[in-house]
Amino acid sequence: MFVGGMVPTELTEPLDPHRLAMRGTQAPRPHCVALQGRVGESTACRIYDRRPSVCREVTPAWEFGTPNPQCDKARMAYGLEPLTPEDWFDPSGSNTPPLSQNA
Ligand code: SF4
Repeated sequence: MFVGGMVPTELTEPLDPHRLAMRGTQAPRPHCVALQGRVGESTACRIYDRRPSVCREVTPAWEFGTPNPQCDKARMAYGLEPLTPEDWFDPSGSNTPPLSQNA
């Protein structure tokens, strides 16, 4: 995992001599140290505006109309069903990003 310059250093750990990873993401059951809340109930990234580029590249499955096996795998590791298109809706009817009903 590449970590950008804005990620708090204390939340990272060496991945190899040239790269860093978020603490907790290399564990047998990965759980990023920046993830707050309880998985399956309510969670949020506490460094969302400063999250690493690799995190910016992963979008929740179907948020923008496409599946994401990486998202599905992460959810299943915590006993959560994969997201479906029906988990997203746009209450305003506009083209703004939809809101999850099941994140
Ligand atoms: S989005 Fe935030 S909580 Fe999720 S892995 Fe990246 S830094 Fe951690």
